[in-house]
Amino acid sequence: MYALVYKSTGSWYTVKTEDGKRWNARTKGILKIDGITSTNPIAVGDRVKLEFEDTEEEGAMITDIVKRNNYINRRSPANKYQHHIIAANLDQSMLIATLKDPKTSQGFIDRFLIAGEAYHIPSIIVFNKSDLYRKKELDLFEERREMYERIGYKVLNISVQNRTGMEEVEALLRNKTTLFSGHSGVGKSSFINAIVPGMSLKTQDVSGWSGKGIHTTTFAEMFDLPALSARIIDTPGIREFGLVDIPKQELSHYFPEMRSRLNDCQFNNCLHINEPGCAIKQAVEEGGISMDRYVSYCMILDSIGRKEY
Ligand code: GDP
Ligand code: ZN
Repeated sequence: MYALVYKSTGSWYTVKTEDGKRWNARTKGILKIDGITSTNPIAVGDRVKLEFEDTEEEGAMITDIVKRNNYINRRSPANKYQHHIIAANLDQSMLIATLKDPKTSQGFIDRFLIAGEAYHIPSIIVFNKSDLYRKKELDLFEERREMYERIGYKVLNISVQNRTGMEEVEALLRNKTTLFSGHSGVGKSSFINAIVPGMSLKTQDVSGWSGKGIHTTTFAEMFDLPALSARIIDTPGIREFGLVDIPKQELSHYFPEMRSRLNDCQFNNCLHINEPGCAIKQAVEEGGISMDRYVSYCMILDSIGRKEY
């Protein structure tokens, strides 16, 4: 029997079989996946083979794992050479961002987009709290939308509080498995509560909002959206995905507007900083590439190899 993994807490997994029944399962022995041997190799979104030791529910065993279409991981906080797989088999990922209370930095958004490019997972940016936006924020939203849509990303403006723009988001989620992320305070829990039937994730009190963010280490979890035949994966406490493996030389490959112009640089190892005959810098000057994106590129390039990256 095959099942989907909805939650992983380390040694136990919550899985759901095609008949809709949930099981607590554990792995039997050591599973070998993609040549990596691990005692804990299964992630939310994985499709696994389930066998039963006896008739009791406690006897559900994961004995095999179906090859993943894709997965995302992050570096372990304890050991930079160790990576944790966060989720597998994603159709797309959605970043909840805000332009106010708190403001999501462009660097944060661009890192998210780079991760999507690196993992070949389409990205959507949803700006929440539009009810708080005045002219300044609305102008900035239009600017950002134009900038990102020109590159090929979808950008939406919603208010979970006022329930505006929600249908558009739901239309994008339909029939898909979507990873949700966003830094603390942007309204991710509120959003999930609004779209998942019967859901009541803890949200932060407005009065208690310090602007700093609360660090909770919880596990990723998948939820069903039956009305949309969709699934979403929440990633609480996961701020950023692992971009550690990207060498400086490759960074521009993950900026689609740069990727399409790389062949026009005079040097094929061009980092697009101060090399002569650089097609990227020329495109920035001529307006084909946004200055803000280029600045973001330079800052991320500069951070590669440094400790905090
Ligand atoms: P999370 O940390 O991303 O899960 O954010 P929460 O869902 O806990 O929301 C953080 C705060 O923002 C809470 O006080 C929410 O009530 C508030 N919030 C969420 N969505 C909206 C919105 O659309 N408009 C406004 N004004 N506040 C919102
Ligand atoms: Zn160049």
